[in-house]
Amino acid sequence: MKLIYSDDHRDHTGAKEMRYDQMIPMSESPERMNMIMTALAEAGFTDVIPPATYGLDVAHQVHDPAFVSFLERCYPLWEDEFGTGGFATAYTFGMRGMDQVPNASVHSMLSCYTFDVCVPFVKGTWQAIRSAKDIALTGVDLIQDGEQAVFSICRPPGHHASQDMAGGYCYLNNAAIAAQAHRNKGAKRVAILDIDYHHGNGTQAIFYDRADVFFASLHCRPEDEYPFLMGYDTETGFGPGKGYNLNLPMPRGTDFRAWSKALEIALHRTRNYAPDVLVVSLGVDSFAGDPVGGFELHSPDYIEIGRQIRALDLSTQFIMEGGYAMEALGTNVANVIKGYSH
Ligand SMILES: [Zn+2]
Repeated sequence: MKLIYSDDHRDHTGAKEMRYDQMIPMSESPERMNMIMTALAEAGFTDVIPPATYGLDVAHQVHDPAFVSFLERCYPLWEDEFGTGGFATAYTFGMRGMDQVPNASVHSMLSCYTFDVCVPFVKGTWQAIRSAKDIALTGVDLIQDGEQAVFSICRPPGHHASQDMAGGYCYLNNAAIAAQAHRNKGAKRVAILDIDYHHGNGTQAIFYDRADVFFASLHCRPEDEYPFLMGYDTETGFGPGKGYNLNLPMPRGTDFRAWSKALEIALHRTRNYAPDVLVVSLGVDSFAGDPVGGFELHSPDYIEIGRQIRALDLSTQFIMEGGYAMEALGTNVANVIKGYSH
């Protein structure tokens, strides 16, 4: 399987995040990619290609162009005010009863265009965002040119980012951009299977009223886990999109037996949808030892997940999302790709 990867994400680093009562170094770090690339190489996946360069057209189809422009300008604007170093983050959020339109201040933009304190901006953030988007789009071109499966190793991840809000380590929604690009290139129906531990709230929001992209998400239920206000099984789509959104929320502590039953349902629904392409939002923070997770999956389970996805017999683009248990992250990701490939 071809792997699409670039080191252009490396300078997106150095910020801290709030974990309930403390400030800690970001769990979403460049070192994650070292673990993944090393484990993939050890498993025999060495066909690594760099991304091509693309514009922002497809990003503008799934995101508000003003939001995309904010992502690009945020750090330079912050730098004008505070100088170099440190990181930009919101002080307030555009809550109920507040104006939802930013003014010229970067603080107002952060308030309107981010929804939590887990999307800091540093000097290298925009370069990383743009590179991840190109990695997703390069994967689309490879699939559309006949590759059966590819792995877009994106960092930062994307599935929490909606049309106009960044959050949860996510800025542009790489999976949504890929799905839209597949549509642009002639795919009539695209399915997105999101197996990250967290609900793919951004991807859901982007395609909620569309029937041409089916979204299925397996995740920890909102009663127990971030993003807390979305991911219920009653969210099934809106208007023409009614019936094309499938949430499979599970309680904290869910093991692979229960989790794989949900996967079976998601795969069954995906098969019935008969998509031309499958995009997998591949998060492995469902792992038992994940510091950000709370499910009980183990490393060998990821091989089985890869196998099950392969059994759909669809053109498949894997897109990297979350996974933060450094010692097992590489193995777990490589196991999905191994299971899929054998
Ligand atoms: Zn996650």
